[in-house]
Amino acid sequence: MNCEPPAAHPEPAASFVRLLPKVELHLHLEGSIQPETLRELLRSNNRPDDQAEAWLAARVRQGYRYGGFAEFLEAFKYVALLLETPRDYALVTRRLVEGLALQNVRYAEVTLAAGVLLWKKQSVPAVFEACAESARDIGSRLGVRVSWIFDAVRQFGADHAREVVTWAARFREAGVVAFGIGGDELRGPAELFRDVYRQARDLGLHTTAHAGETAGPEGVRAAVELLGAERIGHGIAAIRDASVLCLLRERQIPLEVCLTSNLATGVVSRIEEHPLPWLLEEGLVVTLNSDDPGLFGTTLEQEFDLAMRSYQLRPQDAARLCENAIRASFLSGPEQEALAAELHVQTGGREPPRLAN
Ligand SMILES: [Zn+2]
Repeated sequence: MNCEPPAAHPEPAASFVRLLPKVELHLHLEGSIQPETLRELLRSNNRPDDQAEAWLAARVRQGYRYGGFAEFLEAFKYVALLLETPRDYALVTRRLVEGLALQNVRYAEVTLAAGVLLWKKQSVPAVFEACAESARDIGSRLGVRVSWIFDAVRQFGADHAREVVTWAARFREAGVVAFGIGGDELRGPAELFRDVYRQARDLGLHTTAHAGETAGPEGVRAAVELLGAERIGHGIAAIRDASVLCLLRERQIPLEVCLTSNLATGVVSRIEEHPLPWLLEEGLVVTLNSDDPGLFGTTLEQEFDLAMRSYQLRPQDAARLCENAIRASFLSGPEQEALAAELHVQTGGREPPRLAN
C-alpha cells in the first residue's frame, strides 16, 4: 500500500489527518459530552444548572485532569446522572455524531454504559432506541455510521454483566455489535466474567475489555486468555511484560490506545512516558482513540496531532493507525475493504474527499 501523503499537495500534519477517513473504536457516549452540550441539555429541560456550571468550571480550571482514576470515575458518574430521559441520550448522541463528522470520522463503535443504565434503573430499550435512532438519522445525513458496544461495570459483578449481555444480544439487529467491561479493574477481576464472555460469544456478540489501564499486564493476559476479548481497551500495561507483548503480537489483538485519557487520569504522568511508540515498535496492532473526549477536553483529531508531535510520527504512520482501526473494527470484511480503499485513495495522492459539515 502507498501511504505517502500526496506529493503535489503538501499538507501540514493536522490537515493531512483531517482528510483521512477515520474510524474510532473506543468512545464512550456519556464521556463524549462537551460542556456546551451539557448546558444545552440542562437548558432544554429547564433544570437549574448552578451546580453543573460549577462542575464544568472546575473541569476547565483543572485542565480536564483528575486526581486519579477514582476521581475520573466519579466525574463519569456525575455526567451519566445528568442524562435523565431517552431524549437526553438522543441529544448527546446527535452532538457526538456531528462532532465526528467534522473530523471526518466515517465509522465509530460507540460504547453505551448499559450497566450504568441498569444501575440508574432506566429503561435500556427506551434509551438505546433513542440513541440508535438519533445516530441513524444524523449519521445518514453526515456520512457517519455508528455501531454500538454495551458495557458492564466490572465492580458490579457477574450477574449485572450477564444482564447487560442479554440486552446487547437483544439489540444486535439494531446495531449492537459487541459487549465489553469497564470501570475498576482492581475491584472486578477478569475471572469473574469468564462465563459472561462465553455467553456473549454464544449469542453472536463480539467482545472487548478494558484492561491494562490501571492494573498490570496480568490483566491484559487475563482479558485475552480467560475472556477471549477480541480487542483490549488501553492495554498499555502490556509494555511491562515481554510475554504479554508476545501474546498480543502473536494473536494480533488490537489495542485501543487513548493518550490524553491516560494522562488525564494519571495512569501515565508524562506524554514522553507513554508506551505508544514502543507498542508500535513491538509490532502490535495499535489504534488511536479519544475515550471520553468531553471529559478529557480532546478529540480524535487532537489525539493524532498529539501522537504525531510527541513521537515524530510521519503521515504514513498516521495512515497506518487509521488502517489498523479499520481492520480492528467489527465491520464485515467487505465494509472494511471499502473504507480501506477510501483511505488508500486519500493517501495515494488523488482528489481528497470533501468533508461533511
Ligand atoms: Zn474507556
